[in-house]
Amino acid sequence: MKRDFDIAIAGGGMVGAALAALLTSRPETSRLRIALLEPRPAAPPAAGDPLDLRVSALSRASQRLFERTGAWPAVVARGASPYRRMVVWDAADSPDGPGAIRFDAAELAEPDLGHIVENRSAQAALLKCARERGVKLLQSGVASVVTGGDAALVTTPEDRRLSCALVIGADGHDSAVRRLAGIGTRGWAYAQNGIVAHLATERPHQETAWQRFLPGGPLALLPLADGRVSLVWTVPAADAQALAALDDEAFGLRVTEASGGVLGALKPTTPRTAFPLRLMHALEYTRPRLALIGDAAHAVHPLAGQGVNLGFMDAAALAQVLGEALAAGRDIGEHAVLRRYERWRKAENMPAMALMDGLQKLFGSDLPLLAWARRTGLGLVDRAEPVKRSLIRRAMGVAGDVPAALR
Ligand SMILES: Cc1cc2nc3c(=O)[nH]c(=O)nc-3n(C[C@H](O)[C@H](O)[C@H](O)COP(=O)(O)OP(=O)(O)OC[C@H]3O[C@@H](n4cnc5c(N)ncnc54)[C@H](O)[C@@H]3O)c2cc1C
Repeated sequence: MKRDFDIAIAGGGMVGAALAALLTSRPETSRLRIALLEPRPAAPPAAGDPLDLRVSALSRASQRLFERTGAWPAVVARGASPYRRMVVWDAADSPDGPGAIRFDAAELAEPDLGHIVENRSAQAALLKCARERGVKLLQSGVASVVTGGDAALVTTPEDRRLSCALVIGADGHDSAVRRLAGIGTRGWAYAQNGIVAHLATERPHQETAWQRFLPGGPLALLPLADGRVSLVWTVPAADAQALAALDDEAFGLRVTEASGGVLGALKPTTPRTAFPLRLMHALEYTRPRLALIGDAAHAVHPLAGQGVNLGFMDAAALAQVLGEALAAGRDIGEHAVLRRYERWRKAENMPAMALMDGLQKLFGSDLPLLAWARRTGLGLVDRAEPVKRSLIRRAMGVAGDVPAALR
């Protein structure tokens, strides 16, 4: 049957753009005709533009995705910042105390543990690669999706209709595709917000990701290439607006105190923004002729910096499954094909989500027994080399059922 496109991807955020760029870079899928619907496509930053507030910690597997698609040089040119060490400690302890856990790339014979990259330039670089290889970008959203039979039909708010073999929802945690398909979700809002800002530090960050667990939530300081750090501070939702609205001096004092002074005095160099935090898991990732990836399928607490990394794994797994289906002469919208992707990624995402939720609860409690358990636990893990190695290899995306393109 004649369709307008083979695939329509709704959402050109980092994950949707990554899928488009990956599909067009793999020989098995490079001939697919792909439409990408994105109402607000990211423009590449101009030289001299200040670094955006939104940055992400990318794992080694995610870095490989950027390398495979050709998007990595543009991300590096915008100052991707490697972090070579990670130190995690409880507020009742200190970064060099017995209850802290320390990861070092050198112990794994790796050059680094990952990179901090600017979301906007990552998204723009992936979009550019996809478009250069023929993906059609439509600056639009999705108003309706009808699936079934030989095609999926996507209608835009401007009443443009597109028929395709497969529609992919990469449209974030409030996914319209998921809602229009009637796919339910499980999860809850954490009564916490994440405050983000970039800060100047009194002492050098030493290319280290610092994370201090406070009773109200973790505070992370991620190293940026220009010497500043990116703050992700999880605070009780009731305090977030007032904290974010403090003047620079008062905010600097509060955040310095909350960091335990690990990098000396901290001074904000940007405005602050607070994001609500939630756990969300779609009950299904697929329907006939429809699949969900990234935050449209799952949203996690940012404490382990894994959200977009899980989404990139989804994109790579789906690209692999679709490539294998095409090689076997199968219809890429067939539910049996898409279910393979769903089984694969649910088996990987569910334990990761449970671990992050468990950590949030363990570290968010001030019950004395739990406080003792986490201090002792961190110290024990720090001394148990194989456990520590296995944890960090998971976080780097080099352990588990990793899609072939990212190995
Ligand atoms: C404070 C904070 C810090 C974080 N830090 C990290 C980190 O260090 N590492 C990490 O891995 N993750 C991190 N995350 C999580 C990460 O930001 C998300 O997992 C990631 O942005 C999800 O990408 P996505 O492309 O799936 O969705 P989104 O980024 O939400 O993109 C969805 C896209 O879909 C578009 N869209 C929306 N509606 C429609 C529609 N109807 N039709 C078409 N398009 C539509 C939107 O314009 C958008 O471009 C953090 C999150 C927060 C809140």
